Amino acid sequence: MTSSSDGTTRPIFGNPWIFIRGVPAMKFLPPEGPPEIAFAGRSNVGKSSLINALVGHKGLARTSNTPGRTQELNYFVPEGYTGHATDLPPTAIVDMPGYGYAQAPKEQVDAWTKLVFDYLRGRSTLKRVYVLIDARHGIKKNDEEVLSLLDKAAVSYQIVLTKTDKIKDPAVPKLVSETLEKIRKRPAAYPVVIATSSEKGGGLDELRAAINDAVGLGA
Ligand code: GDP
Repeated sequence: MTSSSDGTTRPIFGNPWIFIRGVPAMKFLPPEGPPEIAFAGRSNVGKSSLINALVGHKGLARTSNTPGRTQELNYFVPEGYTGHATDLPPTAIVDMPGYGYAQAPKEQVDAWTKLVFDYLRGRSTLKRVYVLIDARHGIKKNDEEVLSLLDKAAVSYQIVLTKTDKIKDPAVPKLVSETLEKIRKRPAAYPVVIATSSEKGGGLDELRAAINDAVGLGA
């Protein structure tokens, strides 16, 4: 919950969110203000679907991770705040460009790494990165590389399994414990894995509560 300038208290989820802008480099980001959380994941992991399901707005985050396309950080905030110092939104969501295209040219991978690393290292208001992992595939080599980047940047991150409706129920807790084991020695990993399905709504409340907690609004 949070208070806006009109004195009302409202939850950050359950009200409309808006897209502010997509930025190809740090200098175009809005000035640091509210605490931010970010989402990262391989292309097609279900990142746009999860962001849309979280905020209850189908068209907010669009799939835009086509090869060769400009890679941008997309910045979203809850609607209804002026942005002035006295009326900042309580939090912001940053959607990072997807990674892991097998055919991506080296320059594109290098540009991705630079943009993301600059953001991770340079954004003091970034509270946590949610790294999305497709429940059908588990953590892959390029996910490991991103986790290492996050460890190196010393940014707190948490693993979120996506599309859990696509695997059998008993496989979910098994995957959660396997994933926890894989990240056990990683210094910046938050030791709780959240299993979600944007399709069926599973795990979304847990993720919303985790986000509220991460940005200091309480669960
Ligand atoms: P992005 O590239 O990471 O933004 O991925 P999208 O959100 O565009 O999703 C990629 C594909 O996975 C789309 O066809 C989605 O419909 C599908 N998808 C996303 N989330 C889920 C889910 O929770 N369950 C199922 N069954 N499919 C999903």
